[in-house]
Amino acid sequence: MPDPVISIRGLRKSYGDIEAVRGIDLDVQPGEIFAFLGPNGAGKTTTVEILEGYRKRGGGEVTVLGEDPEKAGRAWRERIGIVLQSGRLDPYLTVRESLDLYAGYYSEPRPVDEVIELVGLEGKAEARASVLSGGQQRRLDVGMALIGDPELLFLDEPTTGFDPSARRHAWDTIAGLRDLGKTVFLTTHYMDEAQRLADRVTIIARGEVVVQGTLENLGDRESRPATVSFRLPDGVAASELPGQVAAVDGGATVSLSTTTPVATLNELTGWAIERGLDLEGLEVTRPTLEDIYLSLTAEASE
Ligand code: ATP
Repeated sequence: MPDPVISIRGLRKSYGDIEAVRGIDLDVQPGEIFAFLGPNGAGKTTTVEILEGYRKRGGGEVTVLGEDPEKAGRAWRERIGIVLQSGRLDPYLTVRESLDLYAGYYSEPRPVDEVIELVGLEGKAEARASVLSGGQQRRLDVGMALIGDPELLFLDEPTTGFDPSARRHAWDTIAGLRDLGKTVFLTTHYMDEAQRLADRVTIIARGEVVVQGTLENLGDRESRPATVSFRLPDGVAASELPGQVAAVDGGATVSLSTTTPVATLNELTGWAIERGLDLEGLEVTRPTLEDIYLSLTAEASE
């Protein structure tokens, strides 16, 4: 197995009495899109700033591209691209001028036209940053981070505030980074973003890792209870139903929680057919990744 691009062991950081990061371990492998999720105040920004070499850690071991970020120099920094939440665009420069300017900071920049194409701004190359839409500005931000042809990219909440179509565009651009062989450390609040892009996910809450893994095995999703829901037939009380009723909402939609949905459905539909009843709106749902994220981060906050 190749060396990880990022390796963290026992990372800690406090601000006065606040323990922002309380012993985090993780590895990021070359060429993967790694999503780092957590609610507000979980310690994401603190961790990322330590990885980027902008903040000193309180304890633990950190290696990024083989070096300790606290001690690494300019050559190391050139191997890293950073896309912050608030962009660093000069509103008066065009897309091409902005990229040309940044290219000058690197010893071996990627050709500007290639970067413009990568981020899908071909039609806007001569437009000033100030007239770009929010989504286009964000793509230019990604372009600026790519101009030095970095091996590792940090993307901090790259689609916050985007409309659905701008998000799709941004996701396509980020997915394209994998094809270029880049390693991406993606910080996000959105489970659907992680689901669309990430090879592996780490969720933190209150400075600690709550769960990490691939999307398929995250939080043991397959073994969590499913919900069977339907509208309560006229003239039937919830207490008459077979099975464990989890909830009845105001519109009389009943939910049953079950770890054996096939058996529960069998029992329920048998019961309904016997009585000549229809079960309108009958549905079986598995917890979504969003549900799991919310339940895991809520458990950690208790
Ligand atoms: P968000 O999603 O809101 O950006 P986050 O997961 O990035 O949150 P951090 O910004 O790392 O979380 O903050 C973790 C904790 O550390 C919070 O309680 C925050 O108030 C505290 N904190 C962060 N930066 C500082 C600082 N410079 N001084 C004091 N406390 C800080």
